[in-house]
Amino acid sequence: MKKLELHWQILIGMALGVLFALLMVQFDWGPKIVSDWIKPFGNIFINSLKLIAVPLILASLIKGVSDLKDISKLSKMGGRTIGIYIITTVIAVTIGLLVVNMVKPGSSISEDTRNELVENYKGDADNIKTAADKQKEAGPLQALEDLVPSNIFKAASDNGNMLQVIFFAIFFGIGLILIPEKTAEPVKKFFDGFNEVILKLIDIIMLAAPYGVFALLAALVVESPSLDLFQALAWYAFCVLLGLALMLCVYLLIAWIFTKTNPAFFMKGMSPAQLLAFSTSSSAATLPVTMERVEEHLGVEEEVTSFVLPIGATINMDGTSLYQAVAAVFIAQAFGMDLSISAQLGIIVTATLASIGSAAVPGAGMVMLVIVLAQAGIPEAGLALIFAVDRPLDMCRTVVNVSGDATVSMVVAKSVGKLGEPKVKNWDDNYQKEKES
Ligand code: ASP
Repeated sequence: MKKLELHWQILIGMALGVLFALLMVQFDWGPKIVSDWIKPFGNIFINSLKLIAVPLILASLIKGVSDLKDISKLSKMGGRTIGIYIITTVIAVTIGLLVVNMVKPGSSISEDTRNELVENYKGDADNIKTAADKQKEAGPLQALEDLVPSNIFKAASDNGNMLQVIFFAIFFGIGLILIPEKTAEPVKKFFDGFNEVILKLIDIIMLAAPYGVFALLAALVVESPSLDLFQALAWYAFCVLLGLALMLCVYLLIAWIFTKTNPAFFMKGMSPAQLLAFSTSSSAATLPVTMERVEEHLGVEEEVTSFVLPIGATINMDGTSLYQAVAAVFIAQAFGMDLSISAQLGIIVTATLASIGSAAVPGAGMVMLVIVLAQAGIPEAGLALIFAVDRPLDMCRTVVNVSGDATVSMVVAKSVGKLGEPKVKNWDDNYQKEKES
């Protein structure tokens, strides 16, 4: 029998977790069984995701930055690519923040549920308070000062200092570009291999996802039987989806304004890549198809696609950054925290950086969400709240990630005169040809 695909397994895990918990709450002893014997597996799953956050940043960022070695040759294209990627990411985070602040999905949680949540995650709440107090005393340049670690091992030993790890990784990557290629080669090879290992670890962890989700959902239902938490989760998912849909419209608009591309033409050309992104939840896995579609069907020359798209798959994740902003604010709302404007501006910076550091594989965005939460002083335990609906949202944000890369490659191609007529005008024609051959 054909093995069920992972996203179905996860959806089934979610449903079974809820059903199991609903059954258990019928018995007096049920909730305790779930808390003692099921919940720990959910925690182990979340911990394993958090465990690989630091190695993941080191591996994927050092590899990503050092892969930019062509930047001297292609400095014009490189500068534009990175610049436009950052602009689209900032637009995405801003859309996410606007939507989540307007809909306020976390505020529908009642006082009782909130107190219960805070009680459950009391340790974290205390940490937030300490962090918030510290922030109050801090000077205007404290954030900048905190960016530079005095000891990389100390920075890496605490998930709250991820920005310092990112700083180190970028700095290291730059050093790697600047030394002679022959000397850099073995180091680069090491980090390429290291990156592969980390990606494999994520694969392995994701295999446990259906069980992790089962445990997390069962614990969530048993510990907060209040309906309002689920209602809030539905609103949260709605915010992410609305933001992603808006971002897709932004791409169509950008492509139309800067390259005169008809939105239907863009969507038709990209749809196979988007569908693949949806079902694999991985921009990296979709990359070959993205490159083929952008080249053959959107008319971008290979010189541009081969440079812009692989970098985009590694560092440009607009869907992910949008989701991270919505998730961070939602969790803060759920915990009854009021995020100041400066905290939200901080989220723009950290979500942009975190999405750059996210690997293009399923679930990576959620791992990197830890940074955004930690930096904004939002309890990391809130991850447990949103995990339940993460996979379907991951599928959708990956579609946006891939579409963003394609849009930017068109804009860059246009700006350097490398946007021509597509080789294949009609996807169906091509499909027909492929079928015939
Ligand atoms: N799955 C996403 C991608 O591959 C990353 C993430 O948001 O988890 O683009």
